[in-house]
Amino acid sequence: MTRAPCAGVLAWLVAGLLATGDAWAADHAATALEPLAAAPAPTPETGADVDAVLEPWRRVRVAHLIPDHARACVPVAMRLPATAAQKEIAAGLDLISLAPLGAWLVDRAASGTVLVCRDPNTHLAAYYRSQVRLIGLLARLPEPARIMFLAHELAHVPQHPRFSNDRRFGPRAMLLMHRVREAAAEAVATRVLWQLRERGYPEFLSYKLRSAYGDIARAFVRVMAGRQGEVAELRATGAAFDQWRLRQYDDHLLDHLERIHRNMPEPVGPRRVLSDGFLRGIGRHAGRTFLPEGSGRSLGDPYYAGGLSAENGARLDALTDRAMGQPSEPLEDARSIR
Ligand SMILES: [Zn+2]
Repeated sequence: MTRAPCAGVLAWLVAGLLATGDAWAADHAATALEPLAAAPAPTPETGADVDAVLEPWRRVRVAHLIPDHARACVPVAMRLPATAAQKEIAAGLDLISLAPLGAWLVDRAASGTVLVCRDPNTHLAAYYRSQVRLIGLLARLPEPARIMFLAHELAHVPQHPRFSNDRRFGPRAMLLMHRVREAAAEAVATRVLWQLRERGYPEFLSYKLRSAYGDIARAFVRVMAGRQGEVAELRATGAAFDQWRLRQYDDHLLDHLERIHRNMPEPVGPRRVLSDGFLRGIGRHAGRTFLPEGSGRSLGDPYYAGGLSAENGARLDALTDRAMGQPSEPLEDARSIR
């Protein structure tokens, strides 16, 4: 079945962030096709052997997504770049690691054996496929954009699998969780750029301030005015999180849910409750959280959960009817009113 990348970013030249749907099907079930080959020791000349760090099922998936993965990908845990693409990616990871929060995110990606790849075929600026644990970056991104998007995709890594899509939540709760994942990744990435600025690299935050995500960066900067330190940064991250971008997140997830429904039409629920307390866990990084219990509005508040457009409301209703096993208009009909 078709799987949307987690945290995909729509062509940056056109509009800006279009967040992602997750994949959730059990593609881990791919059986072992071949034993792991003995890996040659990586050297600066040959680079890391990308295949050697992948389970057999992942090798197949990665090779399908990025045929030139041996030259276009870097394992976050073993950064020995040989090609120009690998050097560019490794330099981006090294730069992000200069920010304390960035270093934490890179460590998480390394321990999860995440790959970062230059993807010559994507129409997205960047994406994270959580099941394959692959961050893809559009080739030819200028450096400030590459760092901005890489920080965003790295921020998605620790969200999975705990906050992955789960059809048992039902379509409405999944839509909220998707919004929360994207807003959290944007907020965390903004904090990484702030920390880079504090360490002598202001150009990346400046780029974001001028970009289509400038409202998020400005929300962060407003809180930091005249302040510094972790407490202020956590508050600023919360303010960036509250810059809510409903329509672009909703369109993308509803597209994804409709594709999933066509592939797996059996009713599934909802059978699991998405609570405020559960969702707030997404704000925790390196032992601290920007979404502490009891702060601000509940994440189920209409500010976060409401605001559906009429068209997307109709699409969500149709998906919900189907999740409950109730007959409804064909999905294609619901979509045709867009
Ligand atoms: Zn994203």
